[in-house]
Amino acid sequence: MARRVLAATGLSDELPTIDGVTEGWGRGVINCPFCHGFEVRDQRLVQIVTYPLGLHPTPLFRHLTDRLTVVLHDPTGLGETAVEALAASGVTVERGEVCRVLTGPDGKVSGVELGDGRVLEADAVVVGSRFRARADVLAGVGLTTTPHPTGVGDVLTVDARGETAVPGIYAAGNVTDPSLQVLPSCPGQPGRRHDRLQPRRRGPARRRPALRRGGRMGPPLRRSQPGLERQP
Ligand SMILES: Cc1cc2nc3c(=O)[nH]c(=O)nc-3n(C[C@H](O)[C@H](O)[C@H](O)COP(=O)(O)OP(=O)(O)OC[C@H]3O[C@@H](n4cnc5c(N)ncnc54)[C@H](O)[C@@H]3O)c2cc1C
Repeated sequence: MARRVLAATGLSDELPTIDGVTEGWGRGVINCPFCHGFEVRDQRLVQIVTYPLGLHPTPLFRHLTDRLTVVLHDPTGLGETAVEALAASGVTVERGEVCRVLTGPDGKVSGVELGDGRVLEADAVVVGSRFRARADVLAGVGLTTTPHPTGVGDVLTVDARGETAVPGIYAAGNVTDPSLQVLPSCPGQPGRRHDRLQPRRRGPARRRPALRRGGRMGPPLRRSQPGLERQP
């Protein structure tokens, strides 16, 4: 029986139920300006907004192309000021439901079809996913997820040391916070210390070897010597 458990099970993307989105996901249907933006620069982009935080990446996509159309598929909770700011920056804003994402004979995304029958041609479609913490595996010990304050999805709540509400069970990474990237996801990062998971030291601590010029046999170096400062 383990005394401590660390769950680092990540998250799942939950896509809006619009025909063609799942099929094109990661190819012609994209979500992140950092991951995919360079490849679609200057192209015709149609973004389908399905939840309030969906507008978060829109200004970044606007920097990448001046042929950006935003469709407010579900405008619930959207601030009109943000929408007006986008329109003022040259983004075409459409209000109404999207029926489906269309593909051409070559299988590539070719546009989106709106509920009123119009087709907006596109080289790529931008869709935001909701993030669902992969915490089902912990349901058996009574742990459930809670909504993330931003509304992007749900998370497994942990304290500052990464411990969940069940003593001895820790969690780290995207299962606790969808915004974390690789380095902040790691146990041991500031603010995400998993002290109790560290093995206890046994016996006297070993002294660190002195830094020497020219390898092990060289004379000791002073730590104040230029070039030996601790890197951030
Ligand atoms: C397209 C994309 C690009 C990204 N680019 C960057 C980048 O450039 N730089 C950066 O820092 N970050 C980037 N990220 C974010 C980065 O991928 C995540 O921050 C990181 O992977 C989170 O690590 P994690 O360990 O929490 O989860 P994950 O990496 O998702 O790992 C979770 C693992 O747990 C496994 N698992 C789930 N459930 C179970 C179970 N019940 N039993 C056993 N195993 C299970 C999964 O299969 C998976 O292997 C990117 C993410 C995406 C989607």
